Amino acid sequence: IHRTRILGVNFVNTSFKKFTDVIEQRIQHHQNTFIVTANPEIVIYANQHSSYNQLIKRADYITPDGIGIVKAAKILNDPMPGRISGFDLFVQFLKWGNEHHKSIYLLGSHQAVIDDLIKVIHHRWPNLAILGSHNGYFSDSRAITKQIQVKQPDMVFVALGYPKQEAFINRYRKLSNSLWIGIGGSFDVLSG
Ligand code: UDP
Repeated sequence: IHRTRILGVNFVNTSFKKFTDVIEQRIQHHQNTFIVTANPEIVIYANQHSSYNQLIKRADYITPDGIGIVKAAKILNDPMPGRISGFDLFVQFLKWGNEHHKSIYLLGSHQAVIDDLIKVIHHRWPNLAILGSHNGYFSDSRAITKQIQVKQPDMVFVALGYPKQEAFINRYRKLSNSLWIGIGGSFDVLSG
């Protein structure tokens, strides 16, 4: 996958379809994968916080989540086919996972949002196995990480907002050879 560096952040530069094809193959092969979906706010934050910058450097892929990133690539004479947003990836992986009978874990947002989201997922993608979930307001992560470690979901969706979601993934991704992706406020959007 071709990459383009924007203000020190190394973005994937490929189409949404080519990118998700690569990730779906990695899921099929149980390859441990960490995706950061970065908007301009995140790029600025990474430039101001070196610990966060170091953390996202450990991701396998950083995708352009915002038209501002796509425009910057054009200015740098390395144009991108388009955005690859966290929300669009979330929906695509749920759809693909449903077709391939995959399993998921959901972490983040408020409990009422999670409850609604589970209903939406059961209704729209009935072949997906939801192996566990937890709201994003916890002080002790042991119950969460234990469940992920035991259940080994194909995909772990982490919606804690940045920088928390990336810190969580970086710390715990070795517990399960899954796709781990930070998707900000996507649970709130999809739950209705
Ligand atoms: N959130 C959470 N735990 C926290 C802080 C935030 O679960 O300690 C959730 C919040 O409920 C919301 C999401 O994280 O669903 C953040 O959404 P936002 O659109 O602000 O994402 P960002 O742009 O910050 O990544």
